[in-house]
Amino acid sequence: MVTSNTLKTTKSEEIFAAAQLMMPGGVSSPVRAFKSVGGQPIVFDRVKDAYVWDVDGNQYIDYVGSWGPAICGHAHPDVIAALHSTLEKGTSFGAPCYLENVLAEMVIDAVPSVEMVRFVNSGTEACMAVLRLMRAFTGRDKIIKFEGCYHGHADMFLVKAGSGVATLGLPDSPGVPKSTTADTLTAPYNDLEAVKALFAQYPNAISGVILEPVVGNAGFIVPDAGFLEGLRLITRENNALLVFDEVMTGFRISYGGAQQKFGIIPDLTTMGKVIGGGLPVGAYGGRKDIMSMVAPAGPMYQAGTLSGNPLAMTAGIKTLELLQRPGSYEHLDAMSKRLVAGFRAAAEETGHDFCASHVSGMFGFFFCAGPVHCFEDAKKADVAKFGRFHRGMLEQGIYLAPSQFEAGFTSLAHTEADIDKTIAAAKTVMAGL
Ligand SMILES: *Cc1c(COP(=O)(O)O)cnc(C)c1O
Repeated sequence: MVTSNTLKTTKSEEIFAAAQLMMPGGVSSPVRAFKSVGGQPIVFDRVKDAYVWDVDGNQYIDYVGSWGPAICGHAHPDVIAALHSTLEKGTSFGAPCYLENVLAEMVIDAVPSVEMVRFVNSGTEACMAVLRLMRAFTGRDKIIKFEGCYHGHADMFLVKAGSGVATLGLPDSPGVPKSTTADTLTAPYNDLEAVKALFAQYPNAISGVILEPVVGNAGFIVPDAGFLEGLRLITRENNALLVFDEVMTGFRISYGGAQQKFGIIPDLTTMGKVIGGGLPVGAYGGRKDIMSMVAPAGPMYQAGTLSGNPLAMTAGIKTLELLQRPGSYEHLDAMSKRLVAGFRAAAEETGHDFCASHVSGMFGFFFCAGPVHCFEDAKKADVAKFGRFHRGMLEQGIYLAPSQFEAGFTSLAHTEADIDKTIAAAKTVMAGL
């Protein structure tokens, strides 16, 4: 275990040691355990704006943002106030609730592909349901996913699934029967020829293609010019569906997601993270004729006890309202751009192979010369160096995602001063790598 001279983490150590005796790896989700960067994970006490505080009283500038939901800044007072007033009326109805209409209308207005939407409780659930829907609508079983793309932890998707899985060095997960993934075909990201070849190999058998339209789970990878257009064309030619998993990119890349930013309209879309504003929400939606297959309108079964609960709907509604304010996406873009430029300059000054990029409030960097077009490229990065950088930044009061294969996030609460402080820290840390 790496321990630090400058960062006091006594209480974090105590709590995490106890946690490991009670919960596998001491966490409720694997990447939080810092396995891929080494060293003591930080136990959070509270969060506010662009900052987090650990149980030892250390303050950090945060670029994880609860993995995306904290896009307005942590614990935004308007979100908290709305939650307080909803709380007074109860937390879960298990019956229709007007707030579902409000959020549904906001999503339909915002996301170009969405004509109808179903709310669930997580991104994983949204992706599981959308896969069932792809198969139900087309009557075909096979799907194409891309290496390094993550679509939640459902069996069918745990093939070359990026960050958490890659980080642990698990090729697939034990417990996933081969029969379950037999219909999951994979192609390298940004490789249209590979996709064409799969459609040629399995004529009339592929229900569709699912992807992260901008990848955040293999590190940060942007689609090459023509890639999304190409997929739209190929899926149409083969009577297959195109599905954007916008769990990470939805309401982040732009208010209408990556599909709005790049002007490519998929048939179906999954959402999560930002749409829940920090509460557990996922959603899937798309063309009305496809969504009409979902029960009870149609025969495809999918349900949820807590789905659409008023508390979760409220956090989503308030978060989207805040994002609608003029200048939101300009701010996110400006912060990410400044950070990425500063990191690049710092790496150049200190002589490290480094590449970095951003789109709106999402960014990423690799300790390799780049460019990174796919997961194979990403894996060329110097993971050990990233681990040392991560620990160094932590000691400087900067909280970055604890894996080379995760994206970073800026928020409306990040200021130029926060960014400049982060760049200065990066310069110091890189000089000592
Ligand atoms: C986070 C994520 C998921 C899974 O969402 P959970 O809410 O963690 O279940 C699915 N797809 C993408 C692209 C994600 O980033």
